[in-house]
Amino acid sequence: MTRTVLVVEDEVKIRDLVRAYLEHDGLTVITTGSGAEALSLVSSAQPDLVVLDLRLPDVPGEGVAREVRASSPVPIVILTAKSGEEERIRGLELGVDDYVTKPFSPRELVLRVQAVLRRSAAIPVGGPADGVVSFGGGDLVIDESRHEVRVRGDLVALTPTEWGVLIALAGRPGRVYSRLELVNRVRGYEFDGYERTVDTHVKNLRRKIEGDTREPRIVQTVLGAGYRLGLSRDS
Ligand code: CA
Repeated sequence: MTRTVLVVEDEVKIRDLVRAYLEHDGLTVITTGSGAEALSLVSSAQPDLVVLDLRLPDVPGEGVAREVRASSPVPIVILTAKSGEEERIRGLELGVDDYVTKPFSPRELVLRVQAVLRRSAAIPVGGPADGVVSFGGGDLVIDESRHEVRVRGDLVALTPTEWGVLIALAGRPGRVYSRLELVNRVRGYEFDGYERTVDTHVKNLRRKIEGDTREPRIVQTVLGAGYRLGLSRDS
């Protein structure tokens, strides 16, 4: 199955370069230079991943990321010329799945895109054994092979990073995972110490799976230590 990537970038040269590299890698590419059009393409074309430049002429990329994230779990990789650490972190706090800083190597971008696509496919991240696993008397049901999560019976759509965090925690319910451990589990490589971006993904995850986000039962915070799955595994 060919996967489709939406590239949102107003600089034609960069857009064409990114398109060429992604197509060379076997991906189908659609492009736009407009943030507003990107938002409508996400719902109409249903891409498998969005490459998003943060500096767009109409809507700022941050706004695009936020709106996409509010309505869709599609993975997002941002392109940013903003190299200051604070700005990068702010980008990641939007709940995106990865970022590439300009000027970038197109080959590196392709590798990042492929890595995120792999994470969003039905590949176990090393949590519970393959198959359907239930927690908290059926409140949380994870089907790793089908890449599905049900909470109180309802199917929940997660981003690849949210899925990875949940699967890591569910691998050993009750065990506390530090932010750094989670970053490494989910991404599979060191991530420049941007551990606090985990908090954003956890916040977004909680919005989707917790009945009351102020008193999370599923993904619990352990102060000063990290996060743990608050439900036990059903036998
Ligand atoms: Ca731009």
